[in-house]
Amino acid sequence: MKTFNQQLTDRIESILNGKITSVIPVPGGDINRAFRISVGHDNFFIKINSSVKFPDMFRKEARGLQLLRDADGLHIPQVIAFEVVDDTTFLLMEFLHPGNRSPHYWRDMGRGLATIHNTTASVFGLEESNYIGSLVQQNTQHWSWTDFFVQERIAPMIKRAHDHHLISKKLEQQFNSFMSKVGEIFPLEAPALLHGDLWIGNQIPDASGNPCLIDPAVYFGLRETDIAMTRLFGHFSTEFYHAYNEIFPLQPGWEERMDYYNLYPLLVHLNLFGSSYLPQIEDILEAF
Ligand code: ADP
Repeated sequence: MKTFNQQLTDRIESILNGKITSVIPVPGGDINRAFRISVGHDNFFIKINSSVKFPDMFRKEARGLQLLRDADGLHIPQVIAFEVVDDTTFLLMEFLHPGNRSPHYWRDMGRGLATIHNTTASVFGLEESNYIGSLVQQNTQHWSWTDFFVQERIAPMIKRAHDHHLISKKLEQQFNSFMSKVGEIFPLEAPALLHGDLWIGNQIPDASGNPCLIDPAVYFGLRETDIAMTRLFGHFSTEFYHAYNEIFPLQPGWEERMDYYNLYPLLVHLNLFGSSYLPQIEDILEAF
């Protein structure tokens, strides 16, 4: 974790063309240090980390934010700059002044996400890897969702858990059986642009009370993946699901499939934060 030094201050002031008048830490992130920077009356948001550990993390995050902005469905913060200054890397962007949710917040979120999901590609994945938390997220492209999900999502996380002795032989066997049969459960759909880490902590109301998405891990995948994550750690409002389904109906049985998609973020959490996530994983595989 890095903090502000003179070199960084000089560079930011040069980009923003003014003197920094305050730097206030913003809590809440798991991976980076975040700050609100003021230059006179204008505020900006900055995340910083070690350029040695994560040389290209913010370039990738900036690209993800831009892909989501281009989809034109929801307010996504505008990136101002991402750079490396000595041993620090930073991502400077629009500051979102926290507002109160508008009365149509969840409806607008549903419609907006449906619009984002309407952005398609011919293959599942992305041209480059990115990050999910501090872990590398493989995005090697596949024609088949099942191949992508098994080879780029589940298998690498199981291997990592295995290498760090976080997973039992029995659970690995259950995963092998799951991976050999999982193809039968997914719907046939085109790859959709995903936020990729859409837990409830990655949405916030902007100053006008409109929904805003932050901290993505984008790729093209089945859109049920994003929907599933809206129910993993907390739950979006039911209005969200109604509005989404009005614009871009999910295929029958979507609610029963949610747990299978969520095995991936649960495995990510197992690898990042330890074995407290095992019971949830075990329950899903038992039910499968
Ligand atoms: P990390 O990459 O470390 O997980 P986040 O992107 O989640 O960091 O940001 C940390 C916290 O900062 C979030 O919980 C959110 O409340 C706040 N935040 C994120 N982006 C902005 C922004 N553009 N403007 C204002 N606050 C933000």
